[in-house]
Amino acid sequence: MRVNSNVTMRELGMANVKEGIDDTFSDIIKLERHCKFSNCRHETEPGCAVKAAIQSGELSAVRYELYKSLGRENTNNYAMKKEISKWTKAYKKSIRRVRDE
Ligand SMILES: [Zn+2]
Repeated sequence: MRVNSNVTMRELGMANVKEGIDDTFSDIIKLERHCKFSNCRHETEPGCAVKAAIQSGELSAVRYELYKSLGRENTNNYAMKKEISKWTKAYKKSIRRVRDE
């Protein structure tokens, strides 16, 4: 059963990374589910929940730009997710630093 437990460990590790990314952008991911079109690019589509949230101030346009710049297609890639996680941590740290000064 050693092989099985190894697989589980690896899957758990991947799940943690995935959760980190999903947590970081969980509000945007949630909003995307409310878009009229499932393939919505949040640009000119009607019934876009993301654009509506930015307009109402519910979602920070800066955070959305960050999310977008990381590439939604690429977020499906495990290696990319690790990079995003690192990047997000650095980004959060830099925000905190600005606030503290
Ligand atoms: Zn949208």
